[in-house]
Amino acid sequence: MWINTKADLLAAGTAQISGASWHQFVSQSIAGPGAGGDGAVFLNYHGHRVKLSLSKTGSVLLSHRGGGVVSFTLHNEQHIAKLEPASLHCPEQAYITISGSCIFSCKYCNVPSLAGRRKSNDEIVHMIQKQQEYGSVRAISLTSGIMHSVEEEEENTVSVVTRLRDEFPELPIGVSIYPTEKSAMRLYEAGACEVKFNLEAATADILAKFCPESNRDVLLFALAASVPLFGKGHVFSNVILGLGESDQEMEACIYELCDLGVIPIIRPLSPHAELEAEGYHRPDSKRLLAMHEIMTKALGSAELDPSLCKTMCPRCGGCDLVVGRDS
Ligand code: SF4
Repeated sequence: MWINTKADLLAAGTAQISGASWHQFVSQSIAGPGAGGDGAVFLNYHGHRVKLSLSKTGSVLLSHRGGGVVSFTLHNEQHIAKLEPASLHCPEQAYITISGSCIFSCKYCNVPSLAGRRKSNDEIVHMIQKQQEYGSVRAISLTSGIMHSVEEEEENTVSVVTRLRDEFPELPIGVSIYPTEKSAMRLYEAGACEVKFNLEAATADILAKFCPESNRDVLLFALAASVPLFGKGHVFSNVILGLGESDQEMEACIYELCDLGVIPIIRPLSPHAELEAEGYHRPDSKRLLAMHEIMTKALGSAELDPSLCKTMCPRCGGCDLVVGRDS
């Protein structure tokens, strides 16, 4: 079954690749926990998608036969999949990081150490136009570190959305930033159709430990304020699995979000060396499947359907088990 294969691949998290030239299929991320590194590839397996980070120590061995066709072996069984091109972070979307540095110091994220720059509005428009020349762009998704202040980043993001709404009226725009209490309304008025404000951790205590500048109450306020504007099921929140939370704590968080009309995105931790040295590791496939079962029940009872999402992670589905798409 695909869901078991994907859970195994997500638990492994990293792959090595060899064989025919594959470089045109490698995606680089400059935002979020996977930022930096050797890049990643997206496998399409009979219409299902999974993302694997490339690493010289990756446990999944991908053999590229040419033309994007790869084979790999899991539990002594050989699988064939297709590599999907993803030049702007993920397939079929222009997923762009506006500001590539951050004043926060979340322990699971590499962005503060990257000290990247901010893209201008013109540059972002040009990137999307160029991407449209090479392949289909079905959605625009925007994310950002916090370059100067939360308020200033929101203001700049609103200006980007306003410009992109004019330039690309046919494309849905999703936005993920650290919000202020006014972000939901401002992004909605600028023309975004979906937002993602990341709770990041299952409990307030874990958030305080890993991301001391973050405030769970602010995030929950922004999420609750977003649902009446964008609609139930068009507001998302990433929650990292593997930061020391119990299954019960994660389950409570999932139901808390679903009760608000927000789709939780349960993201397996990708620990960098420092976190690994502290004993944190990627959740195993059994835990991923157990959380998927909880998600299936919680989303079902809240009548939330990720397959209706137009942008960002629920539309991509590369990094997580997605209810309704992975079975
Ligand atoms: S699931 Fe989200 S974070 Fe992962 S590759 Fe897709 S868009 Fe990026």
